[in-house]
Amino acid sequence: MRLDKLLSNTGYGSRKEVRQLLKKGMIRVNGAVVKDPAQHVDPEADAISLLGEEVFYREFIYLMMHKPPGVLSATEDNRDQTVVDLLGSEERHFEPFPVGRLDKDTEGLLLLTNDGKLAHNLLSPKKEVPKTYYAKVAGVVTEEDAEAFARGVILDDAYETKPGILHILHSAEESEIELTITEGKFHQVKRMFEAVGKKVVYLKRLTMGPLELDPDLELGEYRELTEEELLQLK
Ligand code: URA
Repeated sequence: MRLDKLLSNTGYGSRKEVRQLLKKGMIRVNGAVVKDPAQHVDPEADAISLLGEEVFYREFIYLMMHKPPGVLSATEDNRDQTVVDLLGSEERHFEPFPVGRLDKDTEGLLLLTNDGKLAHNLLSPKKEVPKTYYAKVAGVVTEEDAEAFARGVILDDAYETKPGILHILHSAEESEIELTITEGKFHQVKRMFEAVGKKVVYLKRLTMGPLELDPDLELGEYRELTEEELLQLK
């Protein structure tokens, strides 16, 4: 691949910025200064360095975000702030996108990556990737609701959901629950509760497949996935 593309993909700036580094003689390939941005390099075989520091090539980025409310699960928007707007320029450089959507008012675990294949696998309905949500629900959530969810409920568009596992944490005027579903229909959790006559007033995603929201991440914070998390995902 071209040297300027490799450096740019690795997070060393835009193609233009990378060309400046090259022009200044700051980049070496196998020990020799290279100034030509179009120089062909093999990321596997060539030793590339910036002012003596080895450049580790990578193509993909995988970020776990604690999505805050009020932010869109999108890459860009004319009116609202998006989850990608919350990233630093180093991460944005990789052009990550959110894997699936959480509603604007929903919080919790959101994966962002530029690995289209991984995203596709996680979102494919065939894979039935489980997702667990914590919710506060206006109204007394009952075992009958749990049984209905276990059978599958009919949503307002006549779609019958796959079984969901409902754990009632606290049943009162405002109930607290955890719900695990293997689908990702539009507003699914909210609409499942609507199907049993109740309203979700707070929603947070806790897990997606093997990933669990890191309790150390504050709202709006993110971190790269660990090697172990990535291995589990793939
Ligand atoms: N279900 C919803 O209703 N909203 C979300 O954001 C995610 C799941």
